[in-house]
Amino acid sequence: MPLPRLQQLQARKLRTQIDYLKKNSPFYRRKLKEAGIAASDIRTVADIARLPFTTKDELRESQLKKPPLGEHAAVPLDQVIRFHSSSGTTGRPSYVGITERDRKRWIEIVARCYWSEGVRPTSIVIMGFGIGMFVGGLPLANAIEAIGATFVPVGTGASDRLIATIQDLKADIITCTPSYASYLADYAREKMGIDPKTLGIKRILCGAEPGGGVPGIRERIEELWGAVVTEATGNADVVTVYAAECPQRTGNHFLAGDFVIPEIIDPDSGESLPIEDGVEGEIVFTHIERDCVPLLRFRSRDRVVVWNKPCRCRRSGFRMRIVGRTDDMLILRGVNVFPSAIKDVVSQMRPNTTGEIQILLDQPGPRVEPPLKIQVEHGTAVDNLEALKRYVEENLKNKLIFSPAVELVPPGTLPRFEMKAKLIRKLYEEQRP
Ligand SMILES: [Zn+2]
Repeated sequence: MPLPRLQQLQARKLRTQIDYLKKNSPFYRRKLKEAGIAASDIRTVADIARLPFTTKDELRESQLKKPPLGEHAAVPLDQVIRFHSSSGTTGRPSYVGITERDRKRWIEIVARCYWSEGVRPTSIVIMGFGIGMFVGGLPLANAIEAIGATFVPVGTGASDRLIATIQDLKADIITCTPSYASYLADYAREKMGIDPKTLGIKRILCGAEPGGGVPGIRERIEELWGAVVTEATGNADVVTVYAAECPQRTGNHFLAGDFVIPEIIDPDSGESLPIEDGVEGEIVFTHIERDCVPLLRFRSRDRVVVWNKPCRCRRSGFRMRIVGRTDDMLILRGVNVFPSAIKDVVSQMRPNTTGEIQILLDQPGPRVEPPLKIQVEHGTAVDNLEALKRYVEENLKNKLIFSPAVELVPPGTLPRFEMKAKLIRKLYEEQRP
């Protein structure tokens, strides 16, 4: 849909949603009353900036006050058909519920994303994400099946079986985290004596953490598997997947405009930023068609860069890439540094490195006194470690403008992850009694 028409549709749906929130959610009724905004004040999509933000902390509090879903939930529990939980970073997980209508909307949007990445009715897709309560489980299954493709629910924790299943069923697609795609290739080669290139995988659809769209990391996975890697982006509170690459691979197309209004804001001032080539900021979401746990200007803490020049695939709207979480961003003498960017630079130095890193923090971030301690795995055939250490340090310093203190460790020393990779090791938490 051309953008001006989509925006008219969004403004109309937003008015309806505001009335819905006022009527059905005590949490939003209070918020909207405090802000003094009514549905009739919304004339165009830009008026969304007049509405109040919602933070993850508020949602958590609302959930503690009225378990299981919170005061922001807008339907009685008998209409909820499924609970999911998001991998909470602190203590209690947060829960998300969906109604039957929400389920259908999620399927539609996730299916658009997978279609954009090349899933077709003839595809056989191996599930390399955990299924469990994670939003990246069942909703992906539903969407892949809705396309008419074949879904193979292997999940994580069974790498032998996953590789054997690819062979037995002649699967041609894997969907998983980029860390797991690398891990699986190493596993097949080293533990099973199988060259992953011979398995016939044509596409690897990555998500749940940055990496699938990062050049150094993407190329390594493609080399290992002889497959095309694309990336998609989602959010447990918004919709499992809302943006995905097309074959042009010039950023992830935002494909959920009829379901959620995205905004890019300056995370410090909260000011709206224009969605134009190269603009970077925090992405904020407002559901305009969500029954169960709707969000109003939800601060995702995901920092993204956007592009709005037309794409050759003719999908309208903008493209984006997550550059990091505003909450795992480190600040060194005023310079913002994202762990995923460090991993990217180190990955580009293969085969001198394996691409694996771990940042060591003595104290909680985001502010870190330089130099930043980073463990980097060197490659197998490196003889001058001292020269490599200097080379890695200089490269990081030149590209990301901070002072690193690199410690080289042998290949295979750093932990590998099946789900989201942990790039930061918090030494200060381990030292506690
Ligand atoms: Zn495109």
